[in-house]
Amino acid sequence: MNYAIISDIHSNYDALSAVLADILRSRVDRVICLGDIVGYGAEPQKCLEAVKGLTTWTVAGNHDYAAIGKMPLSFFNINARRAAEWTATVLSPAERRYLAALPLQRHISAGDHELVAVHSTPSRPEEWHYILSIDEAEYQFEQFPQPVCLIGHSHQPVFWQLSAKGECSIVGKEYLRLERNRRYIINCGSVGQPRDGDPRACYALCDSERMEVVVRRVEYNVAAAQKKIVRAGLPPRLAERLAHGT
Ligand code: ZN
Repeated sequence: MNYAIISDIHSNYDALSAVLADILRSRVDRVICLGDIVGYGAEPQKCLEAVKGLTTWTVAGNHDYAAIGKMPLSFFNINARRAAEWTATVLSPAERRYLAALPLQRHISAGDHELVAVHSTPSRPEEWHYILSIDEAEYQFEQFPQPVCLIGHSHQPVFWQLSAKGECSIVGKEYLRLERNRRYIINCGSVGQPRDGDPRACYALCDSERMEVVVRRVEYNVAAAQKKIVRAGLPPRLAERLAHGT
């Protein structure tokens, strides 16, 4: 089974449509979406429609909940807050209901793979912590039973591994060969607002038979996405950062 893992689209339909075209060329059976469909960008409705139509398994991100008042905006910086407030003004009642019903995490059987999918962390996902250190990754490995956990949230692709001896390490950011006696936390990066210095849209493809995960980078029309952000009256910084992938 081939599946695509997308996350942190952030209302960037220019990036999402380029990624979906790339996914279609890759003969994917299923799409898993790890949340933050909305927030920051100017096309939340088009992104929601596309995700609803194409993904089988979707979980909520903090920006999805923030846009519908399911999470307080006090945790956000000023630009994220303004974007969430703006997003709230354009969503329809049906779109709000869709976001409100998204679960925080899902347990998935994808081919031979038993997975947990979550936006932030398997432990207390509603607190929206980040996995950025070995210590944090090590702790999170104790919080889920499956061999593989899929995450987003940091907007940076990275593969964490727990060896059979219990040693935790980073084993790559672009390509991963899954070994049966090891466990993994896989961050698939961000479709609509990458923050690893590469402005191209980012997502991951997994082939469960070949036991491979590949991070894909896809060029898209950054200038078009930027123009829409400025035209919507959203903070200019949200447009600028797309050019640098920061
Ligand atoms: Zn995000």
